[in-house]
Amino acid sequence: MSLTSSVTAQQAAGEFAADRPGAIRIDTVSHQYGHGRESVTALGPVSIDVAPGEFLVLVGASGCGKSTLLRLIAGFENPSSGTVQVSGSDPIPGSSAGVVFQQPRLFPWKSVGGNIDLALKYAGVAKGERGRRREELLDRVGLGGTADRRIWEISGGQQQRVAIARALAAETSLLLLDEPFAALDALTRERLQEDLRNVSAESGRTSVFVTHSADEAAFLGSRVVVLTSRPGKVALDLKIDLPRTGVDPDDLRGSPEYAAFRAEVGHAVKVAAAA
Ligand code: ADP
Ligand code: MG
Repeated sequence: MSLTSSVTAQQAAGEFAADRPGAIRIDTVSHQYGHGRESVTALGPVSIDVAPGEFLVLVGASGCGKSTLLRLIAGFENPSSGTVQVSGSDPIPGSSAGVVFQQPRLFPWKSVGGNIDLALKYAGVAKGERGRRREELLDRVGLGGTADRRIWEISGGQQQRVAIARALAAETSLLLLDEPFAALDALTRERLQEDLRNVSAESGRTSVFVTHSADEAAFLGSRVVVLTSRPGKVALDLKIDLPRTGVDPDDLRGSPEYAAFRAEVGHAVKVAAAA
């Protein structure tokens, strides 16, 4: 299998409008940490356009620059060279995107509902509106009726659901997720993958999800970009043409189409890590 002969999802999608809400334009971006002889080139150069509503999964070996790219899209860092634009503007840290990390990073002294309320307040949702929005969001992530529970009373999987609800509360057109399910057991992880797949399809938001799992990438993504080992460059850009709604997740996981995408991504990850 050749890594260079694939038609990229970008080419297949045709014209790209970088200033539409939820669009991401990553243009010739490289990133270094440190200075001079001590510097490490973590990423690039990479150019990726993400269309509104796409679910892009970034896959690659540990240390290839996945989190770096996500932090650049979030605006937590500025690229050493090249430009990143979200909805046609420079990303604003903390407000262009809802972000979910590997650890839920919730406020442990607040209730489940209290954590969501704070995000709604920060997003500028009026006080009288917050109760209704909080219940909607908790329902959406499968946590209806848990608003009064304390963070330490709920499982790691439930905490990560709260973190996703909190990211959705930000009401941005973009959701960024950095290996959010990596610390969970296999069954919980599959459930959360299924729910996130549905939530993203319903919400119409653009999502960028980082993982090193080819299975997770092929299941979640509408598009998968495989990065080479450091400095990360695009090794494969693949449209994942699987149904996003109205499909039983077990049927999907058992389908030959999913198996083929998983195998193609898995192969590309191996080749890219060795390059
Ligand atoms: P990944 O998420 O794919 O595992 P990262 O983006 O975290 O990779 O890191 C890419 C490379 O940059 C790694 O070699 C890492 O050691 C290095 N790196 C990441 N963050 C820093 C930092 N703050 N200072 C110095 N080097 C860093
Ligand atoms: Mg990382």
